[in-house]
Amino acid sequence: MSATSSGTLYVVGTPIGNLGDLSARARSVLGAVDLIAAEDTRRTRRLLSSIELNATLMAYHEHNEQQRTPVLIGRLQQGDSVALVSDAGMPSISDPGLRLVRAALAEKLPVVSVPGPTAVIAALTICGLATDRFVFEGFLPRRSGPRRQRVEALLSESRTMVFYEAVHRIAATLETLAGLFGPDRPAAIARELTKLHERVYTGTLAGLKSQLGNEIPLKGEFVLLVAGSAAVRSASTAEAQRIFAILSNELSAKAAVALTAKITGLSRNDVYQLTRLPD
Ligand code: SAM
Repeated sequence: MSATSSGTLYVVGTPIGNLGDLSARARSVLGAVDLIAAEDTRRTRRLLSSIELNATLMAYHEHNEQQRTPVLIGRLQQGDSVALVSDAGMPSISDPGLRLVRAALAEKLPVVSVPGPTAVIAALTICGLATDRFVFEGFLPRRSGPRRQRVEALLSESRTMVFYEAVHRIAATLETLAGLFGPDRPAAIARELTKLHERVYTGTLAGLKSQLGNEIPLKGEFVLLVAGSAAVRSASTAEAQRIFAILSNELSAKAAVALTAKITGLSRNDVYQLTRLPD
């Protein structure tokens, strides 16, 4: 790649289980860059050797990203191209990457996505819960107080919520969620996505807990998805429609939408959708 101008930072998705999910474009970028910044160099080396690539790697993980970011920015400024990969899925999604991307953008260096699998989207698209609006919550805090607080802040959330969770905490997390959202809240678990033992569990929070409880020892990687609160959704919908109906008698449609959004806290786009106005 050219060394005459700034190099490009490629943010490259890698498989979350099935090696066949490495895209042809990811393969060619990984083969062409001057340097690969990898969360775990041994793991990335294994991935590269499975596709018969040999590349220069630099470790880039949560414990050294502060020191390594300026080093990588320096390389990009000298004209070297850099690929950023994490252990699995997309960098920056519950993985290191954001700091480097921000630093590159701040230096006006080109940043390019080479998208690949990410567990949040893979899980969402096979779990059967609403996909039109969702919120990614990543990992909940480990300590029980902050954990509870985080879930409490989601009590009126009307979008599908997506959580990542470690195997040894999944049962406790289901318990916390069932306690706060109620045992009958629709939910799903996507386990071992793209791998041999891939499985989706659907039902309610309480039902999922008993389904998983039968599997001992519990193993694997999990994404936990919880339906948004239907009550909140329909209450805010009805209220927004009522407010809009009153305001639109007095104001232009545009002004009525803007004011309805301000009063209800919904986005203008949501209000447009609810009132079925053309954008
Ligand atoms: N960067 C990754 C991505 O784009 O999805 C996420 C990395 S995060 C450190 C690891 C967590 O992602 C796991 O604990 C699990 O919650 C989820 N995850 C990753 N791979 C998965 C898989 N194959 N099946 C289910 N969940 C997975």
